[in-house]
Amino acid sequence: MVDIRGVHKSFGPLEVLRGVDLQVRAGEVTVILGPSGSGKSTLLRTINHLEKVNRGWISIDGELIGYRRSGDKLYELREKEVLKQRTHIGFVFQNFNLFPHLTVLENLVEAPVSALRRPRREAERTARRLLERVGLADKSDAYPRQLSGGQQQRVAIARALALEPKVLLFDEPTSALDPELVGEVLDVIKDLARTGTTMIVVTHEIGFAREVADTVVFMDGGVVVEQGPPAAVLDHPRHERTRAFLSKVL
Ligand code: ATP
Ligand code: MG
Repeated sequence: MVDIRGVHKSFGPLEVLRGVDLQVRAGEVTVILGPSGSGKSTLLRTINHLEKVNRGWISIDGELIGYRRSGDKLYELREKEVLKQRTHIGFVFQNFNLFPHLTVLENLVEAPVSALRRPRREAERTARRLLERVGLADKSDAYPRQLSGGQQQRVAIARALALEPKVLLFDEPTSALDPELVGEVLDVIKDLARTGTTMIVVTHEIGFAREVADTVVFMDGGVVVEQGPPAAVLDHPRHERTRAFLSKVL
């Protein structure tokens, strides 16, 4: 499980996260909604220590991210140890971020071979299985530029899965896509949800949240304003700020 406790994050004078508490149970899907600038991306980036928190802590399956505890003090981990932790936290970005000079298959094989020291043959076998799973078995030798945005994003998801992540983080995975390509990417994420992949998804796709989320979290001003099952948060929001936001996006 992902445990986020009292997380604060500032950029200079700007306090972006102002005490975030959030728990995501293994096998569950949490969808984070919130207005632009509310700190959603920053929160995701603190989970894999791309941003260091100023206060609070984050753990995954009981392991502190970016720090080790000694007594009641926290000490920063070395870069190498952070990178190791990060291999188990899948991150799918808005803009795919595939390696443009590598084929689809090589995109999936690279990290398992270099970071997890998997034998290449085994990594390739896994990669082909994952490409099959996202419906792209026939694209293994293509280069990213030869694929549609939706296909590139499905490759990015398969690439994240190749590292057998404990949790998958998605930051607006469909917002750079043409509308007709959104469905195919959401379908892949839905399929992962069915098989019990732990996921945190930042998205503006309310229909997706309603259908797939175990928990919907509404963030505003750097805090979690409310959270609960989709039917509760989306249909019966308790806070005025949630109501105001939903009235704009629904
Ligand atoms: P959006 O829906 O537009 O993606 P968001 O909820 O993801 O918004 P964040 O990207 O987390 O919001 O940004 C929250 C605030 O922090 C914004 O005011 C942003 O300008 C600021 N911010 C984010 N990253 C940095 C940074 N590296 N340096 C300075 N300010 C930053
Ligand atoms: Mg964002």
